[in-house]
Amino acid sequence: MSRPQQDAMPPRRRKTCLFCADKVDYIDYKDPNKLRKFVTERGKILPRRISGNCASHQRTLSQAIKRSRDIALLAYAAEG
Ligand SMILES: [Zn+2]
Repeated sequence: MSRPQQDAMPPRRRKTCLFCADKVDYIDYKDPNKLRKFVTERGKILPRRISGNCASHQRTLSQAIKRSRDIALLAYAAEG
C-alpha cells in the first residue's frame, strides 16, 4: 500500500452554516461547550472556511467567543 492518503481533508459534510441550520440568531456566550467546537485546541477561532459558518453567524460567533473569554469561560490560548 503505497497510495498516499489525504488526511488533511475533513469528511465532506453539509456546507451550510450550523447556526442557520438550527435557526439560531443568538449565540450564547455563556455556553463554552458549544463555543469550544468552534475554536482550535490552541484556543483560536476556527476560520469560516473550516467551520462552514456564514458570514453573519461567524461574526456573531466570534463576538460570543470573545465575550466568553472576557468572563473567563474560554481560554485565550491553550496553556503550556
Ligand atoms: Zn449562518
